[in-house]
Amino acid sequence: MKYNTNVPLNIAAVIVCAGKGERSGLAYNKILHLIGRKTVLEKSLDAFSCTRVKHITVVTAEDDIAAVRSITSAYDDITVVLGGATRAQSVYAGLKAYPCDVVLIHDGARPFVSPAVIERTVDSAIERGSGIAAVPCVDTVKRVRNGKVQSMPRAELFNAQTPQAFRYAEIMDAYARAVGTFTDDAEVYESAGYSPCLVDGEYDNVKLTTPADFTAPTKSSRIGVGFDLHRLVEGRKLILGGVTLDYRLGLLGHSDADVLTHAIMDALLSAADLPDIGVLFPDTDDRYLGISSITLLKQVLGEVTRKGYGIGNISAVVIAQQPKLAPIIPDIRRSLASALGICIKQINVSATTTERLGLIGEGNAIAANASCILNALSTPTENTDGKH
Ligand code: MG
Repeated sequence: MKYNTNVPLNIAAVIVCAGKGERSGLAYNKILHLIGRKTVLEKSLDAFSCTRVKHITVVTAEDDIAAVRSITSAYDDITVVLGGATRAQSVYAGLKAYPCDVVLIHDGARPFVSPAVIERTVDSAIERGSGIAAVPCVDTVKRVRNGKVQSMPRAELFNAQTPQAFRYAEIMDAYARAVGTFTDDAEVYESAGYSPCLVDGEYDNVKLTTPADFTAPTKSSRIGVGFDLHRLVEGRKLILGGVTLDYRLGLLGHSDADVLTHAIMDALLSAADLPDIGVLFPDTDDRYLGISSITLLKQVLGEVTRKGYGIGNISAVVIAQQPKLAPIIPDIRRSLASALGICIKQINVSATTTERLGLIGEGNAIAANASCILNALSTPTENTDGKH
């Protein structure tokens, strides 16, 4: 059977986001992860919004339904439904929610799908019943059975991706009769006696799965650097990264003179293209006399967040001849991570000396250097530019 292509077809998509994404290492659903200024889910929605697809059903888990609704509210023609215990149950729930002529099923964790791939799967489903995005296998694949390794002919092997497009009536029939476990929709379709057809996918159309997939810098990342030095004197506390050290001398300054926190603040401000701490918190202003630098750091974080950035990571070095800092560094990292609301892994602090040379080496000063990466976050105004 072929569709009469003179009649406009109702083409819809089901985007499956109901998994827990436990392999991602994230504390939240990976479809809510930011890539530049957009979430993983928004990236997919934007790609579909440039195609013939007229309606999207997003299938999600109960825990994420509020977050998903807030993202999808910026788009037209989207329905959000609850998924089931397995991927197949979630897909079936999505399929039932919106009857149409041709339906595409897409993994929410494939944000780099292109409109061209989407259109190819639609064309193939209209012409041949189905269109499964797939790319030729790059690696040589081995099958291991009972310890015996068998090489598979690579020319015959493809990696299936999504979207996978089907005539609605056929994939509904296949799901209604599906028994057992399936890893994709083409397998469900095949199990009901239909023959899936492949179309050219794209190697960029990767499924975000492991922690490494989420730590790569984005196009909207910015680097920052900060440096500070304070004189060591008697009668002052020595505070580094918000932690008070047991030492006979302390750092002299208008605030608590936490040289490490000052360098980190300047790195963050520099990356966000904001004025430095000398401008924001002048040492002529009595409001900052003796103030905890951790309090100022929280204000800096507020400025950076308002500017639309989140912290990727911070790397800092304290340059001091005395005291020995190694035992206290875990406490310093914890203190800074807690003030900034980030993980310990996102803030590294190391220590070095100057081999007894110069002002620092003679024990008269401590300096600190910090670098950071900021990643652009999505903002409410930018959420609307992917409208259908
Ligand atoms: Mg300073």
